[in-house]
Amino acid sequence: MPARALAVPRDIPGPVVRHAALGRRYAAPGPAYPCYPPPTSLVPQIGPADYREALERSNQAARPLSLYVHVPFCRQACFHCTRRPVTTTHHRHVEPYLSRLDREMVLTARHLDKGRQVEHLHWGGGTPTFLSLDQMGDLIDRLDARFGLSSARDRDYVIEIDPREADVFTLRHLEALGFNRLRLGVLDLDPRVQRAINRVQPAGLTEQLVDEADRLGFRALDMDLVVGLPCQTRAGFADTLEQVLALAPSRLTLAHYAHAPERFALQRQVRKADLLEPLERLAILEVALARLEAAGYVRIGLDRFVRPGLAAASSPLPARDRIGLGVSAMSRLAGLYTRNPVRLTDYEAALDQGRLPTTSGRWLSPDDRLRAAAIEGLTRDLRLDLDTLGASFGVDARAHLADALVRLRDAEQEGLVAYREQRLGVTRPGQLALRHLAAAFDAYRS
Ligand code: SF4
Repeated sequence: MPARALAVPRDIPGPVVRHAALGRRYAAPGPAYPCYPPPTSLVPQIGPADYREALERSNQAARPLSLYVHVPFCRQACFHCTRRPVTTTHHRHVEPYLSRLDREMVLTARHLDKGRQVEHLHWGGGTPTFLSLDQMGDLIDRLDARFGLSSARDRDYVIEIDPREADVFTLRHLEALGFNRLRLGVLDLDPRVQRAINRVQPAGLTEQLVDEADRLGFRALDMDLVVGLPCQTRAGFADTLEQVLALAPSRLTLAHYAHAPERFALQRQVRKADLLEPLERLAILEVALARLEAAGYVRIGLDRFVRPGLAAASSPLPARDRIGLGVSAMSRLAGLYTRNPVRLTDYEAALDQGRLPTTSGRWLSPDDRLRAAAIEGLTRDLRLDLDTLGASFGVDARAHLADALVRLRDAEQEGLVAYREQRLGVTRPGQLALRHLAAAFDAYRS
């Protein structure tokens, strides 16, 4: 069935969403899949004993480690936020958290063989650079003492940066501490959008940090943008993209704003009148994808793109055991997926009682692994070879994923996916609904 042309307001410049099917069925942003199974599938029956077992079991394969450290503090709350930040203006509020992080490191590291390489370190938040320079140094020292950090040139040590909470001194300090990749939260440079989400950050802040990062020789500089924010327009976002592309980020993440005030209290402060029509969000996404393609950026995953020439170095990701530290942090190793409490008081209480704070999780089944590989392959390559996938898991993937292929029938009719023999491919319009196409493989979605 051919897709019908869709009427789009004439006063908004830029390409249009040409497929009525997209507007009708795929207007909502869809799930982000930071991982599969999704966090919503984790069950409370999994606790510290499972996590200890997985930590010890992981020593047999002795894969390199990836450490994620969550720093939940922010000076000021952005209205679009889904991360449940702890807002404070006092650095002294951080100290008790750092002590508990250290306790968690001790409880975790005692189950790991010494000498396992920490190839990857990621500080996320919240705002990791809300920490004072001394607190950052202290945290790095503790991580090094507990796990042994790497000084190898090919280590990947990344920190998320809110440009309002960092300056040239911060970057020099981070470089001295061993970070070699920065991830800047740019979101949208349109002042109207910034006011609507209570996050005013002039473009000059970002440019200054990029200049300094270049001078200091950081290996990579990534930027995060968000599509669908309140007050966003095609013209405004195209302008943001031009300014961002001029800074030549190594990687770009194009996240999607999902308005869910019933789940995220901060979003209740977003003015209803500032919200976008669902179709407009798709139109902005279409503008963005076209511009990234024209600039030569290559997709390396759901919402993630890499600068021309860097794609080969970015994918696939090396196999590492991931250890999450801090409130709401997630871990994945030895076939187990776990999460720490989302509420700070629960996280603190567990550590004050001397136990690991694992609060939920899931042991991965062969089916989980197959579906995770399908989602990762489809969102990275925009195609999925069912023969190859099945062979690598020793199953008939077409039969095993029959439910997903049935769910994709409508998308096939709408021209969003197409088959060539055993290979499933995402079409150009299908890229606008990629999250929904990935969701077809999710066995936990109702
Ligand atoms: S979007 Fe980032 S900086 Fe803003 S409140 Fe959320 S975590 Fe903090």
